[in-house]
Amino acid sequence: MTDVAALEFAWERAEPIPAERRQELLALPGFGDTYSDHMVTVRWQAELGWHDARVGPLAPLSLHPATMAFHYGQTVFEGLKAFWRPNGQRALFRPADHARRFNRSAPRMAMPTLPEEDFLAALEALLRADGTWVPRARGHSFYLRPFLIATETHLSNRPAEEYLFALIGSPARPAFAAEPKPMRLWAATEYIRAAPGGTGAVKCGGNYGGSYIAQQQAAANDCDQVVWLDARERRYIEEAGGSNLFFVESTTDGPRLRTPPLSGTLLAGVTRDSILRLAGWLGYPVAEEPLTLDKWEQGCRDGRITEAFACGTARAITPVGHVVSAQREWPVGNGTAGPVTSRLLEALLDIQYGRTPDEFGWMRLVDTEGEA
Ligand SMILES: *Cc1c(COP(=O)(O)O)cnc(C)c1O
Repeated sequence: MTDVAALEFAWERAEPIPAERRQELLALPGFGDTYSDHMVTVRWQAELGWHDARVGPLAPLSLHPATMAFHYGQTVFEGLKAFWRPNGQRALFRPADHARRFNRSAPRMAMPTLPEEDFLAALEALLRADGTWVPRARGHSFYLRPFLIATETHLSNRPAEEYLFALIGSPARPAFAAEPKPMRLWAATEYIRAAPGGTGAVKCGGNYGGSYIAQQQAAANDCDQVVWLDARERRYIEEAGGSNLFFVESTTDGPRLRTPPLSGTLLAGVTRDSILRLAGWLGYPVAEEPLTLDKWEQGCRDGRITEAFACGTARAITPVGHVVSAQREWPVGNGTAGPVTSRLLEALLDIQYGRTPDEFGWMRLVDTEGEA
């Protein structure tokens, strides 16, 4: 019943934010500060499957206090971007990969999947409605946030029988600068993010809620992000707070990239996968191999690890300059963005902004209305 792509969207046009005001907002969008005119919603019920698909004005949701999502945490989400291309077209980056990941997250939380074609149709509907919100300025983008929440009104401790899929969009300024500022990472040794058999490999809200206490420690230690270690031994590097990690190793044959394997306790980033493929294409050998925090430190100290970076949709690629833990602190390379990191970032952005051919078929062009 729910596996057939069939959604027909009912449209209700929003009273748009006036173009002049929109341009002002587009000029200075902080991440998540501003939202576009419309949203997409689709409902699911056990007897009906997916139904009531709408594109309408962005508006608050009205939910009963006993809505199950508030109490038992059945919420999953995605995050992806649309880019303005030189010819005025707008394109989504790897939307089908985000649809597939969404459909791996939902069943882990006992929630219904949304057929991939319907997920893509929702993204395209929002972009069609709000194409003028895709910023034109170099490095800017339009961030799309699809999410799914349990909306049944009940306090029973069981999976809900009603859900709401919603999609909102937000213009985003560049998360990177011409000279990206390297991050300081806080190695969490007191808390863990995910354990084997848990939810670490899916994009559910609870993974974030449970990790903010370490994020607070990171901030208290003048760090930007957490680096998480494995739950069993607290030795192996897993990922950063909302991004995956890569290390650049120096070998006699030139630089080689290493990233932790998808052990089941870290998220399979679409950016991570893109970098694995871009690296191969640029001629860097890549290995999905575990690395301990100790080996990271040793490697930095003896010069075998020359660079490290975090990667994710929100901020593309961000260099890691320092690692800090309760016991020690060390610089990575010379503490600035290294040449391999910069080359990968350029290659990724060139594809996203349409400055080079889309070798990998990652960009999905969308018909939109209006000028930005
Ligand atoms: C979303 C996310 C990432 C990055 O994934 P991308 O698909 O590259 O954006 C990494 N780690 C966690 C925990 C995430 O939620």
